[in-house]
Amino acid sequence: MDELITKAAELIVRSRNAVALTGAGISTESGIPDFRSPGGLWERIDPAEFSIDRFLQNPGRFWRLHLEMKASGDFNIGAAEPNPAHHALAKMEKLGLIKCIITQNVDNLHQKAGSCEVVEFHGNLLRAACMKCRNREPIEDVEERISNGGQDTPRCPKCGGLLKPDAVFFGEAIPSRALAVSQVQSHKCDVLLVVGTSLQVFPAAQIPLTVKLKAPPATVVEVNREPSALHEQVTDILLLGSAGDILERLLKAVEERFVPMV
Ligand code: NAD
Repeated sequence: MDELITKAAELIVRSRNAVALTGAGISTESGIPDFRSPGGLWERIDPAEFSIDRFLQNPGRFWRLHLEMKASGDFNIGAAEPNPAHHALAKMEKLGLIKCIITQNVDNLHQKAGSCEVVEFHGNLLRAACMKCRNREPIEDVEERISNGGQDTPRCPKCGGLLKPDAVFFGEAIPSRALAVSQVQSHKCDVLLVVGTSLQVFPAAQIPLTVKLKAPPATVVEVNREPSALHEQVTDILLLGSAGDILERLLKAVEERFVPMV
């Protein structure tokens, strides 16, 4: 493992445009369950609850489920704190090495750790958005209105449209700006650090395929507890284990090799 971490660190230090693609696994050590690991959310909640069709059939039901998940502590994103893996990526961005993080997560933990160039590929669950006028507000404000019994199906204070968490549900399109920036970053990228994602959700899982198909292809470093669904096709260096532990060691190896430009 040490040898592989050294190799990955050398690649990152020599890179011109290293990009990170992260998924739910980077946040499990912050207490937020992922979907597919043992004990993950899919063991307790039907994935169809997160489809746009189901939401539109009965938005009030979804919002009640949302509040139940938060109250049970199952998915209390607002209370979570970044872990060493988020901090290591933020530090590598400050060193000028990681140019951008494309995250599938909706938990805001990269931003909370201090990362600036974050593409929210699947939105952000700390916000709610109006489906009519796109006005956004903190989701806490909406939760408060529901809990106070004012609204079962929350409505936009500006236009009365239906409010939905500002996260991408199954069956919804990826926000166009996030998609465009990800495409540009994929084409520029020479090292792609894939962290905590099973690479089963498309189009996010297309990103490592894209970076391998372009000329010259990028080198893909994967950090996961279990190998991703695409590791045989895309991964050059596979680092199996905890994201917090591996990224801390990777950062240390990067710092030992990094010579800042003066
Ligand atoms: P996933 O659940 O399909 O896969 C998680 C991956 O992370 C697995 O490969 C697992 O082995 C690995 N993993 C789990 N804990 C780890 C750890 N501590 N260290 C290293 N690896 C670890 O997640 P996904 O691929 O991101 O796809 C699920 C979708 O669900 C995403 O699109 C995301 O939007 C959403 N989601 C987000 C959150 C969040 O924001 N924190 C949480 C759950 C789901």
